[in-house]
Amino acid sequence: METSLQRVVLAEDSRSDRNSFVSTHHPCLGFRRFLPHAANQGEESMNRKALDELKQQIPLLEYLTAQEWRPARALSGGRWMGLCPLHTDHKPSFLVDPQKSLFYCYGCGRGGDVIRFAELYHQVTFPQALSLLREWCGLTPLLHSVVEFYRLQLHRRNEAAIYLDQRGIHSPEVIEHMRIGYAAGGGLRSWLTQLGYPPSVLHSAGLITQAGYDSYTRRIIFPLESNLYGRSITRAAPPHRFLPGSKGGLYLWEQVRRYSEVIVVEGLFDYAVVWQAGFRNVTCSLGNHLNARQFQQLCDGPRTVYLAFDSDANGSGQSAAQSMSRRLCAQSVSPRRVPLPDGHDPNSFFVQGGDARQFQRLLEAALP
Ligand SMILES: [Zn+2]
Repeated sequence: METSLQRVVLAEDSRSDRNSFVSTHHPCLGFRRFLPHAANQGEESMNRKALDELKQQIPLLEYLTAQEWRPARALSGGRWMGLCPLHTDHKPSFLVDPQKSLFYCYGCGRGGDVIRFAELYHQVTFPQALSLLREWCGLTPLLHSVVEFYRLQLHRRNEAAIYLDQRGIHSPEVIEHMRIGYAAGGGLRSWLTQLGYPPSVLHSAGLITQAGYDSYTRRIIFPLESNLYGRSITRAAPPHRFLPGSKGGLYLWEQVRRYSEVIVVEGLFDYAVVWQAGFRNVTCSLGNHLNARQFQQLCDGPRTVYLAFDSDANGSGQSAAQSMSRRLCAQSVSPRRVPLPDGHDPNSFFVQGGDARQFQRLLEAALP
């Protein structure tokens, strides 16, 4: 534990870790083979400069915090220990040095800088990690402002409260926990323009239409890790809306992964009522198909997974649960399919009077 982070990372055998470290501290050394093309010297130093800038823009600790990582205890020198976000970790083995913007895990032996972390965490290549980070650092402050704006609107507009009530969302805790907001339709553009965002940026982010209107108008808003989900409260518009780009991983996964039993639901309104009923071990896949990252998250350790997918008339939720159940069986995961009554999803189950005890019984009745 007394070994300095620097030495531990240097002792790493992985080429990529070492190079990430080197590039943090000695930009002149060992970077060449990372470049995607055989760049000439001029381009190479340009690239290196851009990488250094990117890393300066994204302090590792800030990025980790945004991924829901929380330090468990403080060490000397301003360093922190916490659970490793790269695998199932039961006692903190993940060391973060905010000053150097480096991490090292005593459990899995991996370490490096913010780019290396993004590669490992999102399971992507080096260039993909760079574009994820670039996108993140451009979009994050903007989305933060947008979410704050929508959260204020939620409490000012009656129609939003009425809709939430219809969907069974009553407790202020769940609204706070999920940071739910409402896009009433006016004012977003002028608010963001005042904050200094040019309309072209807002349009290319998908937040406003070509004509300058809020693209989420009359939708309940749920912030995701680097996207926004908007549910239309009227039938006049398509029900679901996301910004261009990935939906990301499982919803609030870092808060859930420590549980040995995890409930997976399809939609955020399902999530809200299940969480509100007291089940804290719930996550959401935003649809009945898991993307590669979500699947990998679910399989990152041994656990029982309850698939509480829609029991809809066309059977798509149940057949998705069945095929996912088969895929999960091949991993270290024990899947269970939750037998919701015909025609129900978890949201309608609770809205129509189901309670926590009845839902618990469904979980107990779930079969592989
Ligand atoms: Zn680890």
